[in-house]
Amino acid sequence: MYSAKRRRGADQDYRPSAAGETTIFSPADLDAALENRQFQLYYQPQFSAQGKLRGLEALLRLDDPILGIVTPDAFISVAERNDIIIPVGAWVLRQALHDAAQWGLQAMDGVRMVVNVSARQIEQPDFAGDVLAALRECEMPASCLEIELTERTIARDIAQAMIQLNKLHAEGVRISIDDFGMEHSCLGVLHKLPIDTLKIDRSFVRALHSEPAVLPIVEAIVSMGKTMLKRIVAEGVETEEDIQALAKLGEMDLQGFYFSRPQSFEVISQRLEEWRSG
Ligand code: C2E
Ligand code: CA
Ligand code: CA
Ligand code: CA
Repeated sequence: MYSAKRRRGADQDYRPSAAGETTIFSPADLDAALENRQFQLYYQPQFSAQGKLRGLEALLRLDDPILGIVTPDAFISVAERNDIIIPVGAWVLRQALHDAAQWGLQAMDGVRMVVNVSARQIEQPDFAGDVLAALRECEMPASCLEIELTERTIARDIAQAMIQLNKLHAEGVRISIDDFGMEHSCLGVLHKLPIDTLKIDRSFVRALHSEPAVLPIVEAIVSMGKTMLKRIVAEGVETEEDIQALAKLGEMDLQGFYFSRPQSFEVISQRLEEWRSG
């Protein structure tokens, strides 16, 4: 049998066209993909400014027999509209915690497994219970897990989100807000939500040098995060210039192609040794 990975290199992942070709996978295709174990997790590291490994973000991939490794823009929106994200999200969580246990993340000082969660997942009344059950099954401490949501996800049902997040946070699970400040701002309820991490969107990072108007926005996010004692992660760090521009703003963790693209379990396993000692 041909391996999809053999036909496409790691840097040639299939992405849908800019025109938004989002219907190449039907709900039935995604059900079948889950059944046939075609979903995979790639991981992207997060580092402190001093180069210490701080986290690994789990990023979903679909290993398609024809297209090769497919990124989420081609299927996540279909999965979210059809509730397939609920069983897929449950699989992601278990697989990520299983891989974290394989790597012995609990023995690495302060390194978190970061898992993206959709609105439909957090709207399930037993979401927090399921997450805690997965932690127990994988024998991972709650403090190793960081759940990542967008403001849009929280805004859909803020009361329900608060119940679930408080339950998780009380057990030690960290909460991260992705794409902070991009849309559906949660500023009004930020102080009521148990948030540990604010993530600066890659579009802000990219515009730092080119658009002077972006600087005060990012400064405000960093200074707010600092006063509220939150961890700040800048995503989409691609160049030395990005790192220098961000360093001027304050202490934060960094994630992006400059350090590593998202990589398979096997590749991360090899590089983990080097990152742990570095
Ligand atoms: P995200 O959570 O904002 O993840 C970051 C995306 O930026 C990833 O795309 C990553 O590959 C990409 N990226 C990282 N560093 C750089 C960089 O330096 N430059 C550029 N240009 N891009 C960078 P990816 O893996 O295609 O994921 C896209 C989105 O799909 C994610 O955006 C997230 O919203 C969603 N997603 C991924 N995995 C899951 C999952 O397990 N569950 C859910 N619900 N959503 C997921
Ligand atoms: Ca994310
Ligand atoms: Ca993001
Ligand atoms: Ca983003």
